[in-house]
Amino acid sequence: MAAATTTTPNSLLLHRRAANPSPSAAASPLLLPTRAARISCTAVATPTPSSPSSLSAAGDRGVYNFAAGPATLPLSVLQKAQAELVDYRGSGMSIMEMSHRGKEFDAAIKKAESDLRALLAVPDTHEVLFLQGGATTQFAAVPLNLCADPSVPADFVVSGSWSDKAFKEAKKFSAAAVAWSGKEGKYTALPRFDDIKQNPEARFLHICSNETIHGVEYKDYPEPKNKSGILVADMSSNFCSKPVDVSRFGVIYAGAQKNVGPSGVTIAIVRKDLVGDAQPITPVMLDYKTHADNASLYNTPPCFAIYICGLVFEDLLAQGGLAEVEKKNAHKAGILYDTIDASGGYYICPVEKSVRSLMNVPFTLAKGGDFEKQFIAEATKEGMVQLKGHRSVGGVRASIYNAMPLAGVEKLVAFMKDFQARNP
Ligand code: PMP
Repeated sequence: MAAATTTTPNSLLLHRRAANPSPSAAASPLLLPTRAARISCTAVATPTPSSPSSLSAAGDRGVYNFAAGPATLPLSVLQKAQAELVDYRGSGMSIMEMSHRGKEFDAAIKKAESDLRALLAVPDTHEVLFLQGGATTQFAAVPLNLCADPSVPADFVVSGSWSDKAFKEAKKFSAAAVAWSGKEGKYTALPRFDDIKQNPEARFLHICSNETIHGVEYKDYPEPKNKSGILVADMSSNFCSKPVDVSRFGVIYAGAQKNVGPSGVTIAIVRKDLVGDAQPITPVMLDYKTHADNASLYNTPPCFAIYICGLVFEDLLAQGGLAEVEKKNAHKAGILYDTIDASGGYYICPVEKSVRSLMNVPFTLAKGGDFEKQFIAEATKEGMVQLKGHRSVGGVRASIYNAMPLAGVEKLVAFMKDFQARNP
């Protein structure tokens, strides 16, 4: 097994199988004989991951991944996770295998929280919670925690599919009302803030800061006119893509799987005075107090997902923080929108320019659906994958989150120009 010490954990699996050619192992690649696992233990304890220098950019993985989420993660983060996967920092265990109440995970979650606090300058007035159930669960958790009972009004700006879903779910637990809707305009714009018909009696005003499907993003936020001054934002698809003044929000929530980690963990940042008044029917897992009182460790949390988020936060801090990250995101989005706008109507982005998303860039081809299919198929062959628009709107969508390298966007715009030249 000498060779095993110089291989990646993946190729180790092959070695184990080769060393134990039992019929069951051959038939089922997932079933490894237990004895073989013991034999390769030494090698596993000292994994030699591919060195970071051998894979310097996401493109070196063979593709640029434009998926809307789960989405591309920084290669350096994946490599660090790979290096620590089998033996987490000398513990002899993976972080997936150890108690969430042990010292290793305790340190990991605390570091993740403090790095996130540093990144977003989260004030002491706000809790940071690591939750489960996706942002979709927050659609119910928000009214359950903020409204004393289902008769309490709440205002929703419906600017796309996600805020529409949030509104519909909130109707079950509050007297939710639409304060502005972009439906007639096919969700290509945001309201002038004066046009939001806010109910002064509403308990909160809810917005989706970036509509992942429609590509509409707030550049500033409306002032809540309700008495408690509560603005709630679903930031799932632009979380940690730029600085945000957290003090303006009562609740920010975000599924991790776009900008900050894998799916499985949802982050909520909740003003402390809003914790502890949940409706009596609120399930214990949806009550912010449960998680605030227990430092997000009431039950078994999604340990691995939280750990990866922690690595991403470290990476974002190392890049110079969110102001730097925003500059990179603006540059990437800029060259893509410029290409669309300079195409003479060949490519069309329907979103009003002032609210175009830096994260999700939807566009169509004026030549129609068949050309869009051809565009996506050819791009895929060129290693630019997951460009298909959401099934509800069609077209093309390039999601260019923090971890999408500039080279990926440059490759896409070069391809777009070439495609146009070849298919005038
Ligand atoms: N809100 C937004 C803005 C989203 O993009 C998504 C997922 N794409 C959701 C909510 C739902 O998130 P989850 O799948 O984590 O429940």
